[in-house]
Amino acid sequence: EDCQKLLTAEIKTFPDWPEKGVNFKDVQSILYKPELALITSHYLQELLPKQDVDFLFNKILCFDARGFLFGFDLAKASKTPMILARKPGKLPGEIITQTFEKEYGLDEIQVQKSLINPGDKVLIHDDLLATGGTAGAAAEIILKCGAEIAGFNFIMDLSFLPGRKVLQQYVDDSKIKAL
Ligand code: 5GP
Repeated sequence: EDCQKLLTAEIKTFPDWPEKGVNFKDVQSILYKPELALITSHYLQELLPKQDVDFLFNKILCFDARGFLFGFDLAKASKTPMILARKPGKLPGEIITQTFEKEYGLDEIQVQKSLINPGDKVLIHDDLLATGGTAGAAAEIILKCGAEIAGFNFIMDLSFLPGRKVLQQYVDDSKIKAL
């Protein structure tokens, strides 16, 4: 809660960017203040499923590009393999592609197929939850690979948008966490 207040105060909002009607929350504000970055990283780790009391996860899938910033911290802290979900055309090898709708148009994400296998419980991390299109696409990829969705982890949830509702079709609400 304190962290959320701090982030609300510190994160710069750009009105009508990249389109009219979108108020863009700029994660650069966190990175520019190392102390704030440390606090953010710490509290994101607190949101991770607790292996003993909670649900298990054995891999973390993170989004291109701002999902990589804190996703790598989470992967190291939990000693969990990190998987990069990338914009089209960036990945070598056999890939799996998912098309989805975003706040600002159609988009695609890709993952190397061999990294997610049946039996895996994959936690999804991104910087921000808006309409849920992006995180939902990650969920679809995990399901296509025959794996389970362990939960979702975000820095910010724009709660006036339907993202959380969209993700509730994949996991229980208690597994959708944001600062
Ligand atoms: P969604 O797919 O939930 O509509 O949008 C979330 C995705 O778009 C995330 O990958 C996130 O990085 C990006 N995004 C959408 N709106 C914002 C915003 O206001 N700030 C930031 N940093 N990212 C956003």
